[in-house]
Amino acid sequence: MSSPADGPLAGPAPSPALTPTHADIRCLGVLQLFPGDTEPVVALRNVNLDVHAGELVAILGPSGSGKSTLLSLLSGLLRPTAGSVRVAGHDLAHLDSAGLNRLRATQLALLMQEPLDNLLPYATAAQNLRFAQRGARRHRWSLRWGVEELLAEMNLVEFTHRPMTSLSGGQQQQVALATVLASSPVVLLADEPTAHLDPAGRDAVIAALKQANELTGATTVVVTHDPVVAAAMPRTITLNHGQIGVEGRRGREYIVVGPDGAVQLPEQWLAEHPPGTLLSLHRTPTGLELRVEEES
Ligand code: ADP
Ligand code: MG
Repeated sequence: MSSPADGPLAGPAPSPALTPTHADIRCLGVLQLFPGDTEPVVALRNVNLDVHAGELVAILGPSGSGKSTLLSLLSGLLRPTAGSVRVAGHDLAHLDSAGLNRLRATQLALLMQEPLDNLLPYATAAQNLRFAQRGARRHRWSLRWGVEELLAEMNLVEFTHRPMTSLSGGQQQQVALATVLASSPVVLLADEPTAHLDPAGRDAVIAALKQANELTGATTVVVTHDPVVAAAMPRTITLNHGQIGVEGRRGREYIVVGPDGAVQLPEQWLAEHPPGTLLSLHRTPTGLELRVEEES
């Protein structure tokens, strides 16, 4: 693929945020309001998000920052108050309930926080995967793996004939992951998949998510409040008070320029420079500098 940096007039290398690739998930100007006691609760504001095909991304935020709301929008369980949401080539606003059901049974998979919410508890791993494939087959969605094959790829053969109730939480969540992948989704959304696990279970599920992403190439978004989970992912986006903040890639932190030109100060800088602080922008030989205007 050619990029602007290929030509003879090449400037500096494009920033990672600008690398042109196909976006599989795109949120534009998303606003989500919920009715509150006295005034509406703003769960998400001006959320712009691009996740490219095959990417593995963590969305990190404290409780109440809007993570579950964002996943509900991406899975079509909720329609945004304003803005648009595209997932796997579909503008979700244009899908009726039959279209959404088809999307959820085929292209889109959702892994829930509680392992047993994803599983039939008294069924074996093989039965769980087979059950998940039935829904996809009903929609004539072609399946890439047989049940035994997928269990082997995900290192879960020992659980093939064991009921889920006999497994630890971490093992259940690994089988749950294989179960949601059994329908060969192209997009995988996971809502705090390690929240109720001990550190060993958490680490096993992190490893399984990475392995699943490599194996299936499914575009994967994992929301979490756990910095350990986020740090293990190649790209991390923070969510604070319903807004996208700092973005981390390969251990470096970036602030992202939004489509309206706005940039958001990271929390620790905001504490020192509260809203209303005047900043001036200066071009320097190495880039741009923000200077705090002193009170005169
Ligand atoms: P998180 O998953 O990061 O903990 P949520 O997306 O659940 O955050 O919530 C974000 C904000 O929206 C919170 O202030 C929460 O109280 C509010 N909220 C979420 N769902 C509803 C709802 N159905 N009705 C009213 N407020 C809601
Ligand atoms: Mg939540």
